Amino acid sequence: MNTPSSESVPVKALDPGLYIVATPIGNLGDITMRAVDVLRNVSVIACEDTRVTGKLLKAIEAKTRMQRYDDHASEDVRRRLVELAAREPVALVSDAGTPLVSDPGYRLVREARAAGVAVTSLPGPCAAVAGLTLSGLPNDRFLFAGFLPAKDKARGDVLEQLGGIDATLVFYETGPRLVRSLNAMAEAWPRREIAVAREITKLHEECRTGTPADLIRHYTAHPPKGEIVLLVGPPAEDAAVHDSDAMLRDALSEMSASKAAGKVAKLTGLDRQELYARAVEMKSQ
Ligand code: SAM
Repeated sequence: MNTPSSESVPVKALDPGLYIVATPIGNLGDITMRAVDVLRNVSVIACEDTRVTGKLLKAIEAKTRMQRYDDHASEDVRRRLVELAAREPVALVSDAGTPLVSDPGYRLVREARAAGVAVTSLPGPCAAVAGLTLSGLPNDRFLFAGFLPAKDKARGDVLEQLGGIDATLVFYETGPRLVRSLNAMAEAWPRREIAVAREITKLHEECRTGTPADLIRHYTAHPPKGEIVLLVGPPAEDAAVHDSDAMLRDALSEMSASKAAGKVAKLTGLDRQELYARAVEMKSQ
């Protein structure tokens, strides 16, 4: 990684306060020059995990002291950080991305503000926003909904609450839980367009779109690894979603399974082999 050198950033003593610093979500090159400057020059960095942040500090040649912090930290730890930020510059980072976005920091920021401490935010990587930009889904209105609950009933309740909202929905997801969430979405919203943005900014970055059924087929055959943002297009987009089963059915009435798979793959961008397997299955039914 080419880290910006200290010469490239105007060196000026930092004012006291709490600096909320976004850090890369995979690609270290995404750190901003201002983040490097602040992380090198604050008195202390409040972080989720000193080993994770320690690696980042090593990469940017910062030797700043770290203090473990999350929202479950004791009142005492938080109060001391707020008191320190009133006198000296203190940074808050999370393991990756923007602090407070499904990450710790809410209580610290709230208490710093209540104590009259200056709070400033250094924007940068955020998986939810990066996923939205990759997805090709409408982005004039979106709702970030964090992680879905793990239990079936609670997850179903959340999908029901969110179902009528006229916006693209953005969720954080993990590989082992992806297909279960897609199954719940297939039941609740079978025709909404979905995007799975995986390993954003990393070597194996991909963004795959389709109906819930398309994506269930793909990720059952290829269990996903790594980190995932799951996005769901607004209800009004239903009509525009390609229904690959319907397209295959039409094509199969005129041509072989192999040709039908090729045709639908060209029209939708979906995987040809998976469409072929589906076409063969449909023919045998
Ligand atoms: N605060 C972080 C941010 O601004 O993106 C998010 C922290 S949250 C604990 C971690 C989740 O973010 C992961 O489970 C995944 O859903 C998403 N995520 C983080 N990095 C990602 C990446 N490189 N590609 C896709 N999703 C990612």
